Amino acid sequence: MSKIKSEKIASEKLEFQAEVKQLMQLMIHSLYSNKEIVLRELISNASDAADKLRFEALANSALYENDSDLKITIGFDKAKRTVTISDNGIGMSRDEVIANIGTIAKSGTKEFMQKMAADEALASSGAESQAANLIGQFGVGFYSAFIIADKVTLTTRRAGSTEAVKWQSAGEGDYTIDAVKKESRGTEITLHLRKDEDEFLNDWQLKSIIRKYSDHITLPIMMQKSEWKDGADGKGGEMVLTDEFEAVNKASALWARSKNDITADEYNEFYKHVSHDYQAPLAYTHSRVEGKQEYISLLYIPSKAPFDLYDRERRHGIKLYVKRVFIMEDAE
Ligand code: ADP
Ligand code: MG
Repeated sequence: MSKIKSEKIASEKLEFQAEVKQLMQLMIHSLYSNKEIVLRELISNASDAADKLRFEALANSALYENDSDLKITIGFDKAKRTVTISDNGIGMSRDEVIANIGTIAKSGTKEFMQKMAADEALASSGAESQAANLIGQFGVGFYSAFIIADKVTLTTRRAGSTEAVKWQSAGEGDYTIDAVKKESRGTEITLHLRKDEDEFLNDWQLKSIIRKYSDHITLPIMMQKSEWKDGADGKGGEMVLTDEFEAVNKASALWARSKNDITADEYNEFYKHVSHDYQAPLAYTHSRVEGKQEYISLLYIPSKAPFDLYDRERRHGIKLYVKRVFIMEDAE
């Protein structure tokens, strides 16, 4: 830990809030059999970050910094045993990093932890984890990274700012924050994998997890293209990564597609993504109105009221409403 003699603190070691520590430990132990959700959660955050940038940029287009081609990029390094998820979304300032990933300001965390503890007890009986489905709803997805990583490095630069920060933690008691340089806007998260998690260092495996959980994400999720290469002696070839990138998901806005081409599963998955609900909706209606004004509407009715419907501090309603605004923006 070093402090330079300027007004700004260059490097700082900070303690996690007690709840965060507890939560991470519980997650690591009780969600172990659902480790694929780590990618789903980090991709969902990257997608949210892109939405936030689009929204802020409506009032200040300079935030795009001449790069409005929003996307998520995923890569891995076999030698270093890391998986990296990066986005060119809104990014975070130093204060935002501390507030967003060091503390839990949201309600319902206690309830969530109780559910997870109950899950841990159930795990040996092979019952399906409820907590894995609830992560998104409780707003604690980021911490799931520690299920497969024993060290997480996050570097981020907020759109429009010149200052970037590096956050690093082993998921135990504390984390460090350093001032760094970062050319590109947005957030890059590197997962230093735990000992037995080599399955994530596999191109095919990563792509299939992304298609399974994140196909409905409207941003392109880019990965290096792989290609068959024959062995030198004409036999024993292998798949190798090329320098070219390709979108792994469909990356098309669901609401803008034709109704006839969308399956019930796709409607349901999209609902789960925007609502953070883990159950399918009770009903939905999708319509395109054309005339003097044109618009597309996609309305879902949840099958159950959210657990925090009557909580004054609840934020989800607003979040969803804002998302709808982007959806309309994009759809034209
Ligand atoms: P939630 O996404 O439900 O808010 P998370 O634990 O997944 O909960 O993330 C916590 C917060 O950290 C987010 O609300 C967001 O403010 C911030 N965050 C996480 N990942 C990113 C990212 N890639 N870009 C910008 N902010 C992020
Ligand atoms: Mg999240």
